[in-house]
Amino acid sequence: MEIFGKNVFNQTVMRERLPKGVFKNLKKTIDEGLPLDPTIADVVATAMKEWAVERGATHFTHWFQPMTGITAEKHDSFLTPTENGALLEFSGKELVKGEPDASSFPSGGLRATFEARGYTAWDCTSPAFLREEADVITLCIPSAFCSYTGEALDKKTPLLRSMQALSTQALRVLKLFGNTTASRVTSTVGAEQEYFLVDKSFFLKRPDLMMAGRTLFGAMPSKGQELEDHYFGTIKERVLSYMKEVNEELWKLGVTAKTQHNEVAPGQFELAPIFENTNIATDHNQMVMDVLKRVAIRHDMVCLMHEKPFAGVNGSGKHNNWSMSSNDGQNLLEPGNTPHENAQFLTFLMATIKAVDTYAGLLRCSCANAGNDHRLGANEAPPAIISVFLGDQLADILDQIVAGKAKSSSAHADMKIGVTTLPALIKDATDRNRTSPFAFTGNKFEFRMLGSSFSISGPNIIINTIIADALKGFADKLEKSKSFSADLEKLLQETAKKHKRVVFNGNNYSDEWVKEAKKRGLLNIPNTPLALKELVTKEAVALFVAHKVFTEKEIHSRYEIMVEQYVKALNIEALTMIDMANHSIIPTAIEFATTVASSIIAVAAVSGKLNVSTQKELLEELTNKLASMNSNVKALEKALESALNIADLEKQAVAFREKVFTKMLELRADGDALEKIIAAKYWPLPTYGEMLFIL
Ligand code: ADP
Ligand code: MG
Repeated sequence: MEIFGKNVFNQTVMRERLPKGVFKNLKKTIDEGLPLDPTIADVVATAMKEWAVERGATHFTHWFQPMTGITAEKHDSFLTPTENGALLEFSGKELVKGEPDASSFPSGGLRATFEARGYTAWDCTSPAFLREEADVITLCIPSAFCSYTGEALDKKTPLLRSMQALSTQALRVLKLFGNTTASRVTSTVGAEQEYFLVDKSFFLKRPDLMMAGRTLFGAMPSKGQELEDHYFGTIKERVLSYMKEVNEELWKLGVTAKTQHNEVAPGQFELAPIFENTNIATDHNQMVMDVLKRVAIRHDMVCLMHEKPFAGVNGSGKHNNWSMSSNDGQNLLEPGNTPHENAQFLTFLMATIKAVDTYAGLLRCSCANAGNDHRLGANEAPPAIISVFLGDQLADILDQIVAGKAKSSSAHADMKIGVTTLPALIKDATDRNRTSPFAFTGNKFEFRMLGSSFSISGPNIIINTIIADALKGFADKLEKSKSFSADLEKLLQETAKKHKRVVFNGNNYSDEWVKEAKKRGLLNIPNTPLALKELVTKEAVALFVAHKVFTEKEIHSRYEIMVEQYVKALNIEALTMIDMANHSIIPTAIEFATTVASSIIAVAAVSGKLNVSTQKELLEELTNKLASMNSNVKALEKALESALNIADLEKQAVAFREKVFTKMLELRADGDALEKIIAAKYWPLPTYGEMLFIL
């Protein structure tokens, strides 16, 4: 595969182009997460520039991930004027640190715009790459972004901190099992990405898709996804050639795009890569989203990343497959075949269960945004209640641990849970549960609540941190133990008893589960304004501060940014709806009503006896719906105005959810009813039928 990694300044290229000592030094930093040796920066920068320039690059950029959830860049050329002309230069200083100012990014009060200084810092653990757009080639340097005072203003810095926290605590636990070889534990992620494609000509005629990324009006066509004929169906040629180009672009960037298929909804697709270390997986997922969007345009299509572009058919999510591995080659969530490995596996498994149960609110919060509110808790996969799926075999083992002894099966008479008792676990012995938000799938967990537009950074910061915290609890206890096996057994039993309630292997979509979960005391947080509050509870703040993932100030600033983003998203949607109603749907309905009315007059003029009941009925329906729409537009305008007048951000978000959003639903119902009775040739918007089925 010649093109794979062609545009990446990866370790192979580094080995070729860097002096041996420098390469070794840098590799150590990358592999072991050590601080970068500043003396090698100039050499690396020169090698990087030469490599990039040979491939046609003229500019470089620190590529970073501000709180907007997408990536940002500011391009500088390598050009340096000299007495007789100019040279292409790139210094270590420029590689290591950038000062893009970038003061317009959300900072949640961490800095005022007049304090313009914001810095980007090279993250050498994620390789630099070349981006080819049109005929411009840019060297992109993955970077962290922070304020003058050192606070993180981005999504990468806290992710790296959370990976560090996880590594520290996981190593403590590994040591207790006698491990002397591992010096680092890394969380790994494979993020499956769902998306929709629509023909560009339709997109351009839909102000809602253009402004809000989702349809705000649109009657259901006669066919949706009920035949299940799209899921895993043959991929249409136009889409296949798009996917081919997407894959090629991604492979050049070193992204391991592996699987692709049609998803459940018509017009919906999925791309899955091979898992990598979470930091790189996060960078790569940003590239995946970017390439999917970019290449779509070349094929006269638009890629929709919104969580719910079309009401009535499935929305789009992102499945975050998560595990942790040590640098001596173990996947710590691999059940393994020997009892000893099983005990270690069970410890990490139990830590995960404990973390998910203890911090379910944070996990829910990590997947909250305006778009995802249309999925979570809205009769769609997965529900808003966090639970863990283990599968029959592990659930049975959990029961055995709770009971304190294994049931039977083995030849040993004195079986004790933990070290000697467990039956060898067979991988993939259990079926899949596609309804669970947090499912064990053989040797990893699949967190399925993420929205398709998300940066996967947020959810993984939470997963890494809460599991680090659970492992810390275990290590604190066991390090003091004089009898490891017995105390481990006791600890696992206590933990299993306490956190068993979060395990659920049944159908998460059922009403019974909602009732049962309530009985078990599990959280069921229905919407974003409520979910976001979980970020700033006393417990959450203490957790982040203890593991040095966020400072208290950083966490509050993030909360503010996310609430603000929610309010802004709904504000844009409401304004777009009002605009579409006033400028497009209402005038169209009036035009059509006028035609119907003239038909009544014309027919009646010919002879008083001719029957005009059809027209009359239609006209009446039209005018009724029009009146309703008109009054709902006014009501939405009023709700919006009063919500915008609320000074307190938190209260404002609640008003947007409870008042503005509700009115939007009513207004939509009017628009959709009108769509159904207005002659097709008058209807100004591409229909669901066209958008979903014509590709
Ligand atoms: P499935 O059939 O469950 O979808 P796959 O093996 O195809 O399973 O995995 C789905 C995703 O999970 C892929 O992106 C894959 O790379 C990722 N994955 C596999 N193992 C791990 C792991 N140890 N850590 C993180 N992600 C993983
Ligand atoms: Mg999946």
